[in-house]
This record gives sequence, C-alpha cells and structure tokens, in this order.
Amino acid sequence: MQPDRRSFLIAGSAAMIATTTEAGDNVGQESAEKLIAEHVEKVRPLEIAAGKAWWEANTTGRKEAYAKKEATQNAIDAALADKAVFTRIKAAATHPKLDEKTKRQLHLLNLAYLEKQVDPELLKKMTAKSNAVEQAFNVFRAKVDGNEMSDSEVRKVLKESTSSEQRQKVWEASKQVGAVVEKDLLEVVSLRNEAARQLGFKNYAALSLHLNEQDPDAVLKLFDELDELTRKPYEHAKAEIDIKLAAKVGKKPADLMPWDYQDPFFQESPAVFDADLDATYRNVDTLKLCREFYRGVGLPIDDVIARSDLYEKAGKSPHAFCTDIDREGDVRVLANIKPNEYWMGTMLHELGHAVYSSKNIPAAVPYLLRGEAHILTTEGVAMQFQKFSKSRAWLEKMGVTVENPKAFDEAAAKMLRNELLIFSRWCQVMLRFEKALYEDPKQDLNGLWWSLVEKYQGLKKPTDRNAPDYGSKIHICSAPVYYHNYMMGQLFASQVHHALCKALYNADPKTVLYIGDPNVGKFMTEKVFAPGRSLPWNDLLKHATGEGLSAKAFAKDFQS
Ligand SMILES: [Zn+2]
Repeated sequence: MQPDRRSFLIAGSAAMIATTTEAGDNVGQESAEKLIAEHVEKVRPLEIAAGKAWWEANTTGRKEAYAKKEATQNAIDAALADKAVFTRIKAAATHPKLDEKTKRQLHLLNLAYLEKQVDPELLKKMTAKSNAVEQAFNVFRAKVDGNEMSDSEVRKVLKESTSSEQRQKVWEASKQVGAVVEKDLLEVVSLRNEAARQLGFKNYAALSLHLNEQDPDAVLKLFDELDELTRKPYEHAKAEIDIKLAAKVGKKPADLMPWDYQDPFFQESPAVFDADLDATYRNVDTLKLCREFYRGVGLPIDDVIARSDLYEKAGKSPHAFCTDIDREGDVRVLANIKPNEYWMGTMLHELGHAVYSSKNIPAAVPYLLRGEAHILTTEGVAMQFQKFSKSRAWLEKMGVTVENPKAFDEAAAKMLRNELLIFSRWCQVMLRFEKALYEDPKQDLNGLWWSLVEKYQGLKKPTDRNAPDYGSKIHICSAPVYYHNYMMGQLFASQVHHALCKALYNADPKTVLYIGDPNVGKFMTEKVFAPGRSLPWNDLLKHATGEGLSAKAFAKDFQS
C-alpha cells in the first residue's frame, strides 16, 4: 500500500480537472463523486467502530472500550488531517457544474478537513494545555476553614445553609479554581488563536463559528434580539424569585448577593417554588408513556428501545445520550431511568434525538448528509418534545392522574419559565464573554466578566472583587464557543412548535399537545428530519417554518 503516492497522483489530476472549466463535460462531477466515495469508504467503518466502542465504554465502563474509542477517533482525525485530500476537496469544489448534493457534501468535507489542518506540534501543545486545565478542575476542591468540599457539597451549602456568611465563604472558595487555572487557560486561548490564524481566521471564535456554519454578526444580532425580547419577562421572573429567596435567607431583595442564588453561576433556577412534580411521576411507567406517545404521533421508537440501555447498572455512565451508530437505523439511547420528572423529561428529550436520525432520514440521502442538519437543530427537536414532562394537560391526556392539578400547573409553568429565562441570560454572558475573550485576551477579563453578569443576569458584583471568575466555568476550556448552540436550540424548538401548531391546528401553541396525531410525525419528518444535512441549519428552518431563526416564538412563550 502506498497511500501517500496514490493520493498525490489523484490530487494532481483533480487540480487539473478543476481548471478545465469548459462546458459540456461532467468530469468535475464524476471526480467529485469519486473523491466523496473514497472519503466515505475510509472514514465510515472508523465512525461505526468509534460509535460502537463509545457505546460499549459507556454501558460497561471497560477500559479497553475507551482505549478502542480513542484509537478509532485518532484514526479518523488522521484521515481528516490528510493535506493532499484537503487540497483535492478544495479543487473539486471549484468546479462550476456540480449538482447541489455534491456541492453540499464537498462543503461539509471542506469544513471537516479544515479543522484538522492545524500544525501537529501546535495541536499537541493545545491538547496538553487544555488537559492540564481539565485535570486541575478534576482535582480542585473548594477549601473552607481547612476542609475540602466537593462540587456537590458546595451546591448543598449554597442551597441549604441559612448563614449568608457561610454561603459567601463557600461560594468564594468554589471560585478559587479560576485563579488556579487562569494562567494555563489563557495559554490555551492564545494557542487556539494561533491555530485559527494559521488557518486564515482572525481569532479562534471566528474559526469556530465558521466551522459550525454560523456567521458571527448574525449570531450576535440574534442574541441582541433575544436580549431585547426577554429582558422584561426576565426582570419580572427574577423579581419574583428574589422576593422568595430574600424571605428564605432573611435579607431584603436588594441585598441579595451571587451566593444567595443556590447555583454558583445562577445558570439554573433556584428551588423556590416548592412543588413536588415527582409525586405525580412516582407511579408512572416512563418507558411505556414514551412508547405510546411517540407511536401516537407517528414516530414509533420500539426498535430504539429494544437496542437501548436504559437502567442503572455497575460501571455504566450516569448520564443520558442518544447515538446513531451506522446512519442506517441502528439508533440507541443510554439512560438511567427513575420514576421522576427529570427522567421523564430526559427520555422525551433523548427519544426526540432518536426520531431525528437515520430512522427518519431516507436511505437515499447520501451518508455524509444522513444526519441532523446541526447540533442546534437536533437539540431543538429534543427540547421541543422534552417540555411535555412539565405539562399537566399532556400528562392527563396520556392517562396519568395528577394528584394536585392546580399546584402542579402553577409550579410547572413557573419552573419552565424560570429555567428558560435564567438559562437564556446566562447564555448571553457566555456568548459575549467568549467572543471578547478571543478578540482580545489581554483586556481586563475579570472586569468584563462581571460587567456582563451584572448586565444580563442582574446579579450584583461583590464589592472590590477582582478575580478570574470566568475561569471557574469549565466549558470555557473544554467546550469553547459552543454554549450559544444550546440557546439557539431552544429558539429553534419554539419556532418549529409554533409553525407546526399553525400548520396543523391553527391553535394557541400553549394548548397543543401532539398526542395521538400522526400528522405531527408527518410534519416533523417532511419539514425537519428528511433533508438531513442537505440544507444548512438556517435554510432548513426556512424550509420548516418559512423564516430564519429568530427569538420571536421563544419570547411569545413568556407572554401571559
Ligand atoms: Zn440533547
């Protein structure tokens, strides 16, 4: 085997074909198809093997499975780093007579290969530094009065301690990790920027958005719109929360400090509206409800359930995810179901991913396009279905008896509203901070972080605080420039739901429950699932709803 020589020769011929742009031949099309077929032939078995190894690792915890997953992932990365193939892809894409599907596949290949073209030495340094930060996070324990505290102990104190002084101490101690990782984190940022510049981008945030087919200005404009439309509802919700919190901790609402909000970042809703949604779920067969619901909307998931691993066992990952192993219908869910609201919502969520997969994308769609359009569109679909776990009307129509309907309604509606609004303000902070961080890592980042927290979350900066608190959020290191996708997924969920309600029911989106209506599955399949990645995410949204992504539908959900 002489792979280098072979790809060199083909690279040469592809470049020549690309420059002969005379009309009347389909050599460019044929050569592009060949190039795509070669890539798929090489990478597809690796992707399937990686998927299977990942599944085994997470369901059993076996070390060999993790090692196998890592080795296959390395092989995929090595394939995508192939400069000769990358050159051929770029050349092939310039041919003027390609059909739409081929053009789209070449574009996606171009992005996938571009990401891996970073100088290997630089890549090694980046990985080493970010591993160092992650490791520091893993071993860090907040130290209070000489005692070490785990993350969950910190959360417990923030939630349950009645002493403001104690909460402050613990909150401050938990932020210490920022100072521990600050230096390494800033080096990671600078290495990432260097890599981005090598690839022709002004900074890492710009590169990262480009790789995700997102335009920085458009994303920012969307978040401005979101800010505008949610500011009032957020202020209203927070005022209500503040009154409850203040009463709980014995302060005036105006005196509340960041350590009074239960979550170290105030990214989640504090538990102040005491409602036991779980009481209703104690006797519910979560799986049966999911099965019946998805079958009723014309998107049966029995085959997925049969392949899934759904209950706790030794060595297994405690989380939940859905994976499409082969893009030929082998779709599985990992979960750890318990009879409570959290797992009902989580199962509706994961099965939402499951129906938006090769199960419902026609086999005629090429392998490279046979998946979700974007991470935000699949998260959106998952969240669209997840929300029903907090709907009393949905539960009752599914045959579940809700013990105290009025209390459930009030609490669930408030919880959902607070969760979404609080999370949206937190995402504003993350998006804007990361953008500014990569644009100018030498600015006063401590000050910037708190000015955003004050502006968007409405929290008060502790007097004289000057610490790298941004560094205490691990995602800035481990999932950079990614957070906004969660929020955009929520906007997508609302927008698709509203469009579906209009098309099928012409009814108030708040009242539509989907139950027993196969037209829901038909709408979702035709409008959202079937195109796979053939369309970029925003074009898919136009196809599904008639317009590009906006915050309008999401904001409407908060108008009473
Ligand atoms: Zn998800």
